[in-house]
Amino acid sequence: MRQEPLMPMKIAEIFTHVLDHRLEMPFESASMRFDRRQHCLVEIVCDDGTTGWGECLGPALPNAAVVKAYAARLIGRDPLETEKLWQELYNFMRDQGQRGLAITALSGIDVALWDIKGKRFGVSIATLLGGRFRDSVRAYATGSFRKDGVDRIVDNAEETAGHVAAGFHAVKIKIGFDPAEDLKVIAAVREAIGPDTRLMIDANHGYDVIEAVRVGKLAAEYDVDWFEEPVIPEQLEAYRAVRAGQPIPVAGGETWHGRFGFKEPVETRAIDIAQPDLCGTGGFTEMRRIADMAALHGVRLVPHVWGTAVQIAASLQFIAALPPDPPRREPIEPIFEFDRTANPFRQAIAKVPFEHHRGVVQIPDAPGLGLEIDREALAEFRLKEQPA
Ligand code: CA
Repeated sequence: MRQEPLMPMKIAEIFTHVLDHRLEMPFESASMRFDRRQHCLVEIVCDDGTTGWGECLGPALPNAAVVKAYAARLIGRDPLETEKLWQELYNFMRDQGQRGLAITALSGIDVALWDIKGKRFGVSIATLLGGRFRDSVRAYATGSFRKDGVDRIVDNAEETAGHVAAGFHAVKIKIGFDPAEDLKVIAAVREAIGPDTRLMIDANHGYDVIEAVRVGKLAAEYDVDWFEEPVIPEQLEAYRAVRAGQPIPVAGGETWHGRFGFKEPVETRAIDIAQPDLCGTGGFTEMRRIADMAALHGVRLVPHVWGTAVQIAASLQFIAALPPDPPRREPIEPIFEFDRTANPFRQAIAKVPFEHHRGVVQIPDAPGLGLEIDREALAEFRLKEQPA
């Protein structure tokens, strides 16, 4: 039977939603203090009523401003032309763009366009990407930030023991504050989680090379899976020195944007594990190219995830479509970063929130992102005051 051709569709409107929540208990990584959770969502509405959702990694208000700067170029355009629109928006900002907000804002738009494309064809984004290799993924628990007036060593040990009790097979903790105290935290956490739970350490680029090499050498005895962002992301030669100077595999990439941002780290093996963020590095369109580049050079890929249900949904779709690498009878399965820190709207904005069961997250198979947004929660958490 011959199918009727699809009616053409056009982009009609673009909205940004800045979500905001003041945290009762602020927390800190080595490089940032979080007093609030804020994230920028992108909503693209087409003339036939189809709506797509995206999210931008990073500061929400500046992201919303850049999305608005792109918006006029999208009105009246065919949302299915994801590659054409990506190239046009990238070229529009290229001379002063290339990374940062120009790309994080573009990421939110691209994710929303892929959501529309999936809904248009009645298939999940994973199917559009080439098919689902898996219906669920093992999650690792991200947390263990520093809190005011709290003993980090005791707090981290208790928190990670809780993740293990909840069924997580792996936990990631924050270091990069002070090498001597960080090593005590690592030892206490290993003791708390036992020998069978995987442990990752994330310095949020708080060390210099000398500190990172020393911490890596001493932390290795605690069986650490990876050492994330040991040094500042601009210094790739420093990354290579850390990689050469200590035995733990080095991970990084949540601040590297686009394929050009990953070219040198991957080609010069500054990292063992690449951590591009789908909502920061250029959306599905660019993430595919980065995943291919990493696979081409034998660098493992573990996407970075830090956001709301929109980013969780998008990252799950991408992970579903990641080919096993290398292919073998029991392949190395990708793992999913599951933020366990306070953020009441992360789950609330989804009508069916993403949860884990014994550390495993199911990947939706509904069209697009497989996500239905709760408009009431969106209104509840919309930014009402401009924070100082
Ligand atoms: Ca990180």
